[in-house]
Amino acid sequence: MSASRVAISIHVFGLVQGVGFRPFLHRIASQHGVSGWAVNTNDSVRIHAEGLSKAIDDFIDSIRRKSPPLAHVEHIETRPATDNGYTAFEIHSSRSETTAVTRVSPDIAVCDECLADIKVQPNRINYPFVNCTNCGPRFSIIKDLPYDRGNTTMADFKMCESCSREYGDIENRRYHAQPNACAECGPVYTYQTGEETVTDINLLLSRAASLIDRGGVIAVKGIGGFHLACDATNETAVSRLRVGKRREGKPFAIMCGDLKAAREYAYLSLPEEELLVSRERPIVLLASKRKGNGVPLAASVCNGLPTVGIMIPYMPLHFLLFERLETKAIVLTSGNLSDEPIAIGNEDAFERLGSTADAFLTTNREIHNRNDDSVLFVAGGIPRFVRRSRGWAPEPVPLPFSAEGVAACGAELKGSFCLGKGNSAILSQHLGDLKNPESFSFYTEAFERFCRLFRFSPRLAVCDTHPDYLSTRFAESLDVPIMKVQHHYAHIASCLAENAFLDRVIGVAMDGTGYGDDGNIWGGEFFLCDLTGYRRISHLQYLPLPGGDAAIREPWRMAVGLLYSLYGKSAVEMDLPVLRERSDAELELLIAAIEKGVNTPITSSAGRLFDGVAALTGLVSKAGFEAEAPMRLEASIACDDTSYSFKTGDRIGVLSIIEEIVADICAGIDTGVIASRFHNTVVRLILDTVVKIAEESGVRTVALSGGVFQNRYIVSKTEESLSAEGFTVLRQRMVPVNDEGVSLGQLAVAAFAGAGQ
Ligand code: ZN
Ligand code: ZN
Ligand code: FE
Repeated sequence: MSASRVAISIHVFGLVQGVGFRPFLHRIASQHGVSGWAVNTNDSVRIHAEGLSKAIDDFIDSIRRKSPPLAHVEHIETRPATDNGYTAFEIHSSRSETTAVTRVSPDIAVCDECLADIKVQPNRINYPFVNCTNCGPRFSIIKDLPYDRGNTTMADFKMCESCSREYGDIENRRYHAQPNACAECGPVYTYQTGEETVTDINLLLSRAASLIDRGGVIAVKGIGGFHLACDATNETAVSRLRVGKRREGKPFAIMCGDLKAAREYAYLSLPEEELLVSRERPIVLLASKRKGNGVPLAASVCNGLPTVGIMIPYMPLHFLLFERLETKAIVLTSGNLSDEPIAIGNEDAFERLGSTADAFLTTNREIHNRNDDSVLFVAGGIPRFVRRSRGWAPEPVPLPFSAEGVAACGAELKGSFCLGKGNSAILSQHLGDLKNPESFSFYTEAFERFCRLFRFSPRLAVCDTHPDYLSTRFAESLDVPIMKVQHHYAHIASCLAENAFLDRVIGVAMDGTGYGDDGNIWGGEFFLCDLTGYRRISHLQYLPLPGGDAAIREPWRMAVGLLYSLYGKSAVEMDLPVLRERSDAELELLIAAIEKGVNTPITSSAGRLFDGVAALTGLVSKAGFEAEAPMRLEASIACDDTSYSFKTGDRIGVLSIIEEIVADICAGIDTGVIASRFHNTVVRLILDTVVKIAEESGVRTVALSGGVFQNRYIVSKTEESLSAEGFTVLRQRMVPVNDEGVSLGQLAVAAFAGAGQ
């Protein structure tokens, strides 16, 4: 029957390394009676298969349809090969060729089987670095491709006999699990205080748990960096952590032992539960319960906001700690001071967190790629990113065209970059506010590491049109041709890119601030656009932004600007909460500046309008953290279906909204009702403007982006009302609508322009 015997060369592309793919191949090869070999290369898994032609067909079909849980087969290429008469199926060691790269797996939460192993396997009892091909660290430890132990920070640890046996046994779950380790041979935790150093795992776990239960603060080295932890139900501990971290108002994320404990503190919908227990294990922003059955959270965890960010354990150490903790919830916040990047090195952590932490839980395994926790929320039943990092980075966003060689440098306040490799857009992890020098050096370091890891060298750099963004300067320093993309167009393009949508849309960018083509500050924009270009059809009317960036930190300035635009100089004499808090001198100075246009740019920003309204109602006059004013305004929404009046057109008149809000305030209307009316107005304003643009253009698809769509009320009501009018709504599900998603849009615009040539 030698006639029906064939030999074939198979290339499998996608997420196929570090996910148990070769053992899987070995299994199905023996099932189907296929012989030959498989090898990991930097861009794929290559297979040489020999066998009966039916067996080969079944083998390829199994690759397509039965791959392991973490794997993702994107496509398979086959071509005829020479029959070498192999009698068995072998796994060959990895090879590195060309500049094409395979996908790098994100870090994945520990699996149930591994958690079970640390209860029974003698060399792994309570061993906190247990992992297998279905779970464990990946991106955080990888230095280079192919994904082999020697290219990770596990290279320093020589596997013991028992681990080597598992690693080499094709039938074992740890076959070629690169970070495979046990208590005999792998990394260890060390507990350190000023007085003692503990290395025994059981002793250090009980020391750490009891320290937290007694109100102490502990720095814990995790997957992508250090965390600071304390009892979330202990007000003294939480306030101490706040002072130590120099974080005045921004809510802290907490970790609960399991879903049941999470339900004590928050209302969970099904999609929210699924997200919490997903293998990515992000922080999920949830509606907090005022009263559960358990001990309530300390007030300063959420600082008066009705949402709480919760995650559940994702690495073995978390599980082991919760087995010993009395408290049901711990604050688990990034190990950093205010907005700096999280600490990843032990020495760095001692230095930066030493004055805050009473103890350190460090490890001797190095973190190569810093990777903060991801943050999502669910609106309209759909998970949405606020921050895309651990669990997702560096998963590519697939594009319907090539982006090879394009380096998009992102925005600034929420830095990110995006690299084009073939039809993939590889987005960086969360990098933070680039104005912070430490964050900017993290940005440049991460860029270099991505270039090395993904064998990328830029042929074109893309950046924002803002001349002063540090990311713009960085793009200029790359010494390749540059393309600049307007900020809000990039937001919309980001939405188009992840939806692989190439036709024309009505783009609605409701955002904070971004540099506009006319030199003014944009942020409430309606475009007709596709990836080839855009036309600004309409925008919120320009209003003064007194003090420029200072107005972002001090929303009362925005409120005064709004009042001045309506009533002129005499505005300061009105009896309004926002004015009562300010001295006459302060107000006069600001009014004089607005009148003369000194340091008072004009802006169409929707985010700033939210700021101004929040300040007018007396909710927030100075922001303790980014977007505090809009967040508190959203939080105060009470039930009311009415809205204020506005004027549609190429400039949307919003001063009538302010006029009616002032009347409501003077009439003693509840702030919650004002907040509802204002939110309803923004939704109506978007809907009416879109309807008008659709009538004139015939375009029936709407793309929504910009930071304002992180407001759950706005995003869900806007999507609902547009859908109800028969529009197709493109939403962002793969990257954040905030500035972290801008780099993807920049990349898409530049790559699409290149693809058309
Ligand atoms: Zn596992
Ligand atoms: Zn071992
Ligand atoms: Fe933006």
